[in-house]
Amino acid sequence: MADKQGRLTQEEVLSRVNIVSLISEFVPLKKQGANYVGLCPFHADRNPSLFVSESKGIFKCFACGVGGNAIRFIELSEKLSYVDALYNLADRAGIKYTRGIERDEQTTRLRNDIRSLNKETAKFYFEQLKTSRKAQEYLKTRGITADTATKFGLGYSPDSWDALYKHFKSGGVQDDLLIKAGLVSKTDKGNLIDRFRDRLMFPIFDDIGNVIAFGGRTMDKDAKTAKYINSQETPVYIKGQHLYGLNIAKKSVSDKVIIVEGYMDCIALHQKGIDFAVAALGTALTEKQGRLLKRYFEKREIIVAFDNDSAGAQATVRGMEILKNIGLSVKVFRLTGAKDADEFLKTHTKDDFLEQLSHSYSLFEYKCILAAEENPADTNEHKIDFINKVKSLFAQLPDTDKLVYKKWVTEKFGKQYGFGEDTVVGSQSLNQGKVDREEPSTGIIQRRIYISDDEKDDSGLSEADKKKDFNEKRLLICFAENPGVFKTLKNKDIRGLFAFEENRLIFDIVSEGCESGEIKGFSSLPSFGAAADNRLAEAQFKYDIKPSDAKASVSEMLQKLYNAAKDAELDRIQKEIDDPSTPKERKIELVKKFAALKKKQKK
Ligand SMILES: [Zn+2]
Repeated sequence: MADKQGRLTQEEVLSRVNIVSLISEFVPLKKQGANYVGLCPFHADRNPSLFVSESKGIFKCFACGVGGNAIRFIELSEKLSYVDALYNLADRAGIKYTRGIERDEQTTRLRNDIRSLNKETAKFYFEQLKTSRKAQEYLKTRGITADTATKFGLGYSPDSWDALYKHFKSGGVQDDLLIKAGLVSKTDKGNLIDRFRDRLMFPIFDDIGNVIAFGGRTMDKDAKTAKYINSQETPVYIKGQHLYGLNIAKKSVSDKVIIVEGYMDCIALHQKGIDFAVAALGTALTEKQGRLLKRYFEKREIIVAFDNDSAGAQATVRGMEILKNIGLSVKVFRLTGAKDADEFLKTHTKDDFLEQLSHSYSLFEYKCILAAEENPADTNEHKIDFINKVKSLFAQLPDTDKLVYKKWVTEKFGKQYGFGEDTVVGSQSLNQGKVDREEPSTGIIQRRIYISDDEKDDSGLSEADKKKDFNEKRLLICFAENPGVFKTLKNKDIRGLFAFEENRLIFDIVSEGCESGEIKGFSSLPSFGAAADNRLAEAQFKYDIKPSDAKASVSEMLQKLYNAAKDAELDRIQKEIDDPSTPKERKIELVKKFAALKKKQKK
């Protein structure tokens, strides 16, 4: 059984696979205590270093460091992508699903057939555009030139039930294939009709220029149908895996890439000579799209420019975090004077746009701006909420950024909200304050969060930091194993206790999953990337946390994290005291603060 759409879920696959029998197909395992051990297949292992926990559904090699769940094992041993590993496991377990990633010849052929049908379809619509007065008029009102229309292959789907269907039928194309390509659909009566009718057509190209799908926009102002219709997912098109305009933007020599929401914004930018624009086609940037950007634009600055509404703002933050986590340099652009780029460019020049673009914000700056919008400086309550929010954002910054942003945030908001530089840096309120989380979204298990790709990226950490990281991971596992315990703590600022950004991000997902009920134990955690998964698995093997001991471990770990945060604060104060450039009055203040903190700690 798969989900309602016939799609496989990680949860389902993992629940049906026994990790001990799976790994036994690759290496012999022996029972040892609660676990199984064997020779690790991923390095030249002479002593059994591979530990497998049947109940947790995970493996871990304590020599080379690899570890994770059954999917990870297949990814590594069969050298497959995550998705392919998921299907490989589903096949092994005999799970039925209707939507799959294809690997065999037949499906390769199907994909090729669909691509060439799409190409033919794009040509057909393109020809129709030439003779459609309505479409021509529409392009004119939208300010799209003939050159631009040609460059993006725009077309028109005729106002007919079956113009495209007939076109292919006369060429002898099978109905079945047209349905699979998503170009026609079957009515209740069994007739085949065109999916796109009387619409301006945008072919969607993949990065190398294949037509993989279509978007169709209605040209009637008060049409009762949806403004845009897009292709359904097909064997060549999966939503959230492509970027519109990438086939063109990849040739740009700019040092920037701008990501907008829709077709029209992207096209309008290109028409004005801003040839480094792509569209996400939706606001939820995915990790897949991030990887695509990384492949082509790793060294460039990525600028997210979604619409100026609250949905756009939430999506922007989420999207930027995804891009940042895969190692891209990200900024956010807030257009002023128009609701989107298309509208802006109607009344402004390319230079106006580029000028505004040069004032893009970093993620921290953007979050502060959103916080100020949420808490205008009209009441004291708002002011306090805003300052607390900025403090918690500030605490999450790497030390190297703190100096710059301390100045920035104080200059921008200090006067209005009544605070100085020291306020921002000041010790965080650890036990009070709300948990800083975004609106829960559904389906966290299906979302894969890549925090890091490297197998062992903790090598740069000191022993003390490794220990700290371990404690934080242990706390996260406790929550995963016993979501009930997490729920009793949810009004405390636990997020602020994590010293490592990675663990804060994992915490966001775990807390979301505990709330939604999607996380029920360690093995139901989504993947956070190899390095993070490894450390989590290592912690779980070491401590073997069960739901029943989660509660006690949680209080122990919270205390440890709390102490660590206090120590870090003391360290910071000590450093400032030792700094010869610190003014005398400030030093006195700091010494007092230090003593007070120390006293509190002893209690
Ligand atoms: Zn190994």
